[in-house]
Amino acid sequence: MSKKLFIPGPSDVSQGVFEAMSAPMIGHRGREYTQLFMECIQNLKKLMFTENTIFIVPSSSTGLMEAAVRNCVKKKCLNVGNGAFSDRWHQITKDNGKKADLLSFEWGEAPLPETIDERLSSGEYDTLTLVHTETSTGVTAPLEDIAKVAGDYDVSFLVDAVSSMGGIKVDVDKLGIDVCLFGVQKAMALPAGLAICSVSDAALKKAKSIENRGYYFDFLVYLKYLNKKQTPTTGAISIMQGLRYQLDQIINHEGMDNRFLRHRKMGEYCRAWARKNLGILPKERFASDTVSCVTKTAGIDIADLDLKLEQRGYVFAKGYGKIADQTFRVAHMGERTLDELKQYLYVIDEILGF
Ligand SMILES: *Cc1c(COP(=O)(O)O)cnc(C)c1O
Repeated sequence: MSKKLFIPGPSDVSQGVFEAMSAPMIGHRGREYTQLFMECIQNLKKLMFTENTIFIVPSSSTGLMEAAVRNCVKKKCLNVGNGAFSDRWHQITKDNGKKADLLSFEWGEAPLPETIDERLSSGEYDTLTLVHTETSTGVTAPLEDIAKVAGDYDVSFLVDAVSSMGGIKVDVDKLGIDVCLFGVQKAMALPAGLAICSVSDAALKKAKSIENRGYYFDFLVYLKYLNKKQTPTTGAISIMQGLRYQLDQIINHEGMDNRFLRHRKMGEYCRAWARKNLGILPKERFASDTVSCVTKTAGIDIADLDLKLEQRGYVFAKGYGKIADQTFRVAHMGERTLDELKQYLYVIDEILGF
């Protein structure tokens, strides 16, 4: 029997998605592929609230984190870091030969717009990276406030929405995000292997003046093919078939507002549960509606909890990175329902004797 995943990616995939994915294979230079690809793009623009250019790439999300800095950093990048994934983006930036500084915040804290403002005011930077929901700590950054700051400077604003897109609203155009990227295996609840980003006209124009963009992740190569309604390489066709189905479900069946509300309710329920029995890392204002990071776990035998949950048909998420030993996480994203979450937390209560 399959186990229910309560980890922050990959998420459980619906039967409907699997059925859509089992459609016959098609050629990636044919009309059917173009139709599939363009339908996905049309609905992705709705999901992301953007008129920007959309690229669909056969890769994990990390590939597009690399692509974003590779195509957009000309002078120097300011990487905002407040957890494992945002810190990693700094590493990725440097590993691609770009000049970069890490603006560090405590793990569990949200990045402060004032501090970012102060750093950008030095004029050293032409790019700012931010992780929307930091999956290691369950912190969702105050995106609107930080976007306002970024808008005051001549910087490319790059946002990792990997664990929020599809669960928390990200209004790309209103926020002025130059590159907004995510993978599909988290709140989008598709099998892993596809990454998506929106790219602003300003970022595309800037990319032309940047050397060594590579080939596989070169936005301008993607753009050239997009203009012919194609992709440079073979797409992840089956996942795209699942994506087309899932976008229709999200937009036309569940409804985006309902989906965001379902995630909010799961987040609130999980945090109330955590506060009552243990603790929760972020302040309520910055707590993510897709993943919660539970603290005060010192008295708990995590390995035993993990095993007992597995025996009851669940996949448990330990802590991540340098706070792995002091925390565990509960993912409430994708197709997960409030009732399923309640059941899972009830089982944890039983195991831990709460
Ligand atoms: C999962 C995750 C990533 C990495 O995603 P991959 O698809 O495994 O490359 C990056 N950033 C955040 C915030 C994540 O949650």
